[in-house]
Amino acid sequence: MLFRDVIGQDDIKARLIRSVDEGRVAHAQLFYGIEGVGCLPMALAYAQYLSCEHRTSGDSCGQCASCRQYAKLSHPDLHLVFPIVNKKSSGDDGSICNDFLPLFRDAVLSNPYLSFEDWQEALGDDKKPVIYTREGDEIIRKLNLKSFESPYKVMIIWCAEQMHEACANKVLKILEEPQGQTLFILISDNIEDIIATIRSRVQQVFFPPIEPPYLSDYLRRCGVADDSIDFFIRNSRGSINELSNQISQSDTRRQYFRMFTDLMRSCWNLNEETFSEHWKPLLNQFVALGRTGQLSFLQYAQRQLRENFVYNLSADSLVYLSSEELDFAHKFARFVNENNIEELADEFAIAESHIDRNTKDQYVFLDLMLSVHRLLRA
Ligand SMILES: [Zn+2]
Repeated sequence: MLFRDVIGQDDIKARLIRSVDEGRVAHAQLFYGIEGVGCLPMALAYAQYLSCEHRTSGDSCGQCASCRQYAKLSHPDLHLVFPIVNKKSSGDDGSICNDFLPLFRDAVLSNPYLSFEDWQEALGDDKKPVIYTREGDEIIRKLNLKSFESPYKVMIIWCAEQMHEACANKVLKILEEPQGQTLFILISDNIEDIIATIRSRVQQVFFPPIEPPYLSDYLRRCGVADDSIDFFIRNSRGSINELSNQISQSDTRRQYFRMFTDLMRSCWNLNEETFSEHWKPLLNQFVALGRTGQLSFLQYAQRQLRENFVYNLSADSLVYLSSEELDFAHKFARFVNENNIEELADEFAIAESHIDRNTKDQYVFLDLMLSVHRLLRA
């Protein structure tokens, strides 16, 4: 990973580069911030820079033997620790990170902004991944190895808040007796869950949300249309992961939007003709969503109602609608007002709880449509 491939975070980059150039690298650091602001890619770029044989103009060369090994995350002095699930039977010693190293390398190389959830999916297990106690012994063993090629050994502990207490205590002991030429980088999106004694022994580096111009560039590279970019960024919290989620969910969101607008239009009119022409097909669409989709759609509809109500109060304060949702709000919002908003929202919430309790979906949805019809006409 080169520094130039890390998105934004220019201040942190500059500080880290300076610390290497001036030979003042703090031996234990904690990179933290919400998921998707680049702690892991920055840690990898930093480690690569530290080990590069021909650093030039504030970045690794990308060509030397060390950089070539870093490009595959296979440098012998780079040690990666991350949460895993034990796949061995209880009679064994239990799994360690090394057992999953090829999988982790692949996951990070294909997406350096890997999220905990992505990683859990890659592991293909329902159990929550953790950093087991025995990993503490592995860390000590690796630190006792002589460094192979570069003057520094680097130990990156990703999702450090997932360390079991006994593992955390082992790491603490190591941090209390600093070893020469070893750089520890702990990474976390939830530092409150890291024991305070560790937190007080590391140099903390806070990663703020990524700056909007960098997010725009990223979205353009992903092929997002210009008129959607602002909307995506406003809902991103400055996180690349949030942006990727939104991109992958935007098809679903458009589907829900179409269903929501159809629902509101159909509910305005109710007679024999509209029932067979509009209500029945909608009912079928709803059933086709399946239980999880139905719950997401009902939550989506509640958000839309709230946003439309707020739009009535002040069109300027509305920031959570996409451009097509906003177009619809322009015409529809006046039908949602202080006389019906609470009841409307309640009806969707009731439908949600009924679906959640496995009430037959057709009845729930039909009931909902009749209530919406009554409330819009009230
Ligand atoms: Zn290099």
